[in-house]
This record gives sequence, structure tokens and C-alpha cells, in this order.
Amino acid sequence: MVLEDYHTHNQMCHHAVGSIEDYIKKAIDKKLDLIGISDHFPYEYLKSSSILIEEVPYQEYAMSLNEVDLYLSSIQRLRDIYKNKIQLRVAFEVDYFKSQESFLNLQIKNRLNNLDYILGSVHILHGKSKLFAVDDRRFLSMYKEYDSIDNIYLEYYHKLQDMITSEEFDFDVVSHFDLPKKYKKRAIDKELVMNEVIKTLECVKRRDLTVEINTGGLRKEIKEQYPSFEIIEKMYELDIPILLGSDAHHPNELGYKFNKMIKLVSKIGYTKLAHFYKRKRTFIEIP
Ligand SMILES: [Zn+2]
Ligand SMILES: [Zn+2]
Repeated sequence: MVLEDYHTHNQMCHHAVGSIEDYIKKAIDKKLDLIGISDHFPYEYLKSSSILIEEVPYQEYAMSLNEVDLYLSSIQRLRDIYKNKIQLRVAFEVDYFKSQESFLNLQIKNRLNNLDYILGSVHILHGKSKLFAVDDRRFLSMYKEYDSIDNIYLEYYHKLQDMITSEEFDFDVVSHFDLPKKYKKRAIDKELVMNEVIKTLECVKRRDLTVEINTGGLRKEIKEQYPSFEIIEKMYELDIPILLGSDAHHPNELGYKFNKMIKLVSKIGYTKLAHFYKRKRTFIEIP
């Protein structure tokens, strides 16, 4: 079975353990066929925009802008060293903010040619009083500012829709599609939220993007992959391509529960997984 992990972090983001090389060595140990290094892109560029990024501890969420070239050159060097042992991919997980594309593009445009793919994510919501990261435990009290958890989901999916339909935001894969459930916060009006999920998936389909099956959720309070079985079924009906990501923040988490996930997506009907190289998508068969 070919195992490819497209979502991994490392110590450059200040909240993951281990160097890039530690992850590569562990991926080889675990017999993965491919590891995508996809650390968080810096948030620093937002300081020149109207987004008050200082309201969240953004330095703890990503490397700084002046480390980006070191990150890219390190992966290039490691790709040569390990080329006979594992396929290495270079990527970024980029957080989306509405109307900030021009600021982001100033930083990332001239580096796009070096990347194999880009994960597009939403972690930070506007909140009622200030910005907060929906997946950062320290901001759980912000949830009280909303009348209902459903409103967090709606804000999250509206932001995903903005990301997916943005003509200037260049990316390939939608990450952790139902992230607000992380702390066991399920939607209350399930139909209301599912309608928004379907609208979002229709945007994904129109742009022909890939959605990640992220096993990080299985290690969190919700104990479930992102997205849920029900959402993956909808994705299959819409013929939306998928790939696997562990969202490893420790080398031991690489390829986490991938065999289980392959069984799950096969049961739904999927027979292939997306594969990326230099921003081009091809497919590998699930045996
Ligand atoms: Zn992270
Ligand atoms: Zn993420």
C-alpha cells in the first residue's frame, strides 16, 4: 500500500517538536512513500494590512518571514540527501484572510514555483470583540461571545467559501474541513450547518480542488478525522478528490491511522488518492 502524508509541521512553527530532518527520518522508519513538509506560512505580513493579527499570539503559530528562504532551501537540501529513500514534497499551510490576498501575494508569489502544493486553511475567526484561533484552547472562552456554536460554524464556512472562491488566493488543497468540532463542539442545528457544508463543497467542486482527510482530529477531544464520515460521503457524491494528512506536530504522529482511513474512504467508494508534484495533481490507486 502506498502511503503519502501531505500535512506535517516541524519546530520552525514554534509549536511542533522536531527538525524537518527528524520528520523525514521517522517517515522512512514508518515506511511512508512520501512526506510533504507543509509548515505554517508566517502571519507577519498581515501587520501591514487592516487585520489586527497582534490579537492572537501569531509568533507561536508560524515561522517568521525572514525564515521562509531557509525553510525552502533546507527542504531542497534534504530532498537531495534522502532522494533514494523517500519522496519529499515542499509546501506551506497558508491561513486565509479575506481581502488580504495582495499582502500575501507580495510575500509568496515569487516562491510559488518552489512549492509542490499549498494547503489552504482557516484557523482564525473574527469573533465579536477580537480575533481568535478556533483551534487554540486558550481561546475557548471566546465561544461564549456567540449565541450558539452554530454561528461559529457558519462564520467558519463563510470564510472557507471566501477562500475557495477567491481569484487571487492560489492554493491546491482544503485542510481540516470541519475544524471547529476539535474540542467536541458539535453543531446543534445539524441541518443548518450541513447546508453550509454542501454549499462549501460545491465551491470546492467548481474550482476542482482537493480536500484533505486529516487524521489530527482522531488525536483530539473529538476523536474523529476531519471531515466527518457524513461529509466525506457528500464529497464522494460530488466526485471531489482527496488525500491524507496527519497534521503531525511530533514525528511519532506521521501517517497516523492512515490504514484505518484508507479502509474508511474505500468503504465510501473512493478508489484513488490525489498526488502532488510541482503544483500538478495526479492520482494513485488505492489497492
Ligand atoms: Zn500547527
Ligand atoms: Zn491547520
